[in-house]
Amino acid sequence: MQDRIHKEMTLYEKLNILSDAAKYDVSCTSSGVERKGDGTGMGNCVKAGICHSFSADGRCISLLKILFTNECIYDCKYCINRSSNDVKRASFTPEEVCTLTMEFYRRNYIEGLFLSSGILKSPNYTMELLYVTLYRLRHVCNFQGYIHVKAIPGADQRLIRLTGYLADRMSVNLELPTAESLRLLAPHKSRKNILAPMRFVQEKSKENRQEIMLYRNAPQFVPAGQSTQMIIGATPETDYQILSVTESLYKKFDLKRVFFSAFVPVNEDKALPAIREQGPPLLREHRLYQADWLLRFYHFEAGELLDEENPNFNVFLDPKCCWALRHLEMFPVEINRADYYTLLRVPGIGYKSAGRIVKARRMGTLAFEDLKKMGVALKRALYFITCSGRMMYPVRMDEDYITRNLLNTKERLPEGADGMTFKQLSLFDDMNAGTG
Ligand code: SF4
Repeated sequence: MQDRIHKEMTLYEKLNILSDAAKYDVSCTSSGVERKGDGTGMGNCVKAGICHSFSADGRCISLLKILFTNECIYDCKYCINRSSNDVKRASFTPEEVCTLTMEFYRRNYIEGLFLSSGILKSPNYTMELLYVTLYRLRHVCNFQGYIHVKAIPGADQRLIRLTGYLADRMSVNLELPTAESLRLLAPHKSRKNILAPMRFVQEKSKENRQEIMLYRNAPQFVPAGQSTQMIIGATPETDYQILSVTESLYKKFDLKRVFFSAFVPVNEDKALPAIREQGPPLLREHRLYQADWLLRFYHFEAGELLDEENPNFNVFLDPKCCWALRHLEMFPVEINRADYYTLLRVPGIGYKSAGRIVKARRMGTLAFEDLKKMGVALKRALYFITCSGRMMYPVRMDEDYITRNLLNTKERLPEGADGMTFKQLSLFDDMNAGTG
């Protein structure tokens, strides 16, 4: 099986190429699984602890994030690894991935593995290599840490099933929001081929939950669930289309996360948008992440945030503020009476502070000073709330007036989200630190 794998490079050279090649995949969060090591192997999973370091542009950096190979038989127009590109190619062997994972884990560089891959020879051939790698890691190296692996569209369900019993999370990248865009930029892929493994993982996970209820020791299948990623800005879809697809992925496929990756132009191709001076659309990506939170934790629906007439987010204001400004008839909300779901819709009140408000007001009436202590961002909330019937300051309930004031309160954006700066972190940045 390993006849196609280059053996002449050093492991360090391969790592350099294949960690760099993996940086465009952002679907690598690890939250959602808790599993203690049993003392016989190495590593454990902590529910909210493994992979919560993100680079400035939102990309996760605490997993060993590599491609198994950057060889690929496909020619996706947006991808640096496409078959028509003349880039240096490399492939690991399963043993090499195991060595790296174990060595990096021992040195405390990483807490888990994120393993993706180009398509070497065929989907089945590649999926089998990923399976063999995970099998070795779990059963030969006894690695019990977190593993996120890609399911390769077009691979046999049997291979995906076997691999799913060894991984914590699986993801199949949707890549582009519509079937038409996929046809245009990734002609070897089809929406059907991508959704089929997603559906399989969803059904198998449901079945597995039943098995675990019946037999406590039944092996777990993809216990941290599945995620996907869409590239933003390579094709003309609006935010409304992207958010509607996101919503339906959560509802129809039980996805744990949908990730957005601002399009980074790495190839010249007439089917791709021209290279933008201001860099990848990171602010747009940021707004979509904010809206994604509103879907997942704030009970909003895509159709409430955007519609055919307003299909894109305002880059100057966050999506919740925009929604509130379009619904001023619902405000101000009385903090001491409004129910939890109404509080969730107030700009500046997060789901944690909404919970704290509901709990604390059982003990007595809340004032603005109390809200500040509970984490409410009063500089945004003050236009939309009253405490005991009074607003914090006299406020005109007028869209233009509030908008102007909100624009004056500078929102804290992730570094680079203004679209002016963009830097991908590399594993080698850290390794070389202090040498210059
Ligand atoms: S399948 Fe497409 S996106 Fe994935 S590595 Fe190959 S060319 Fe790149």
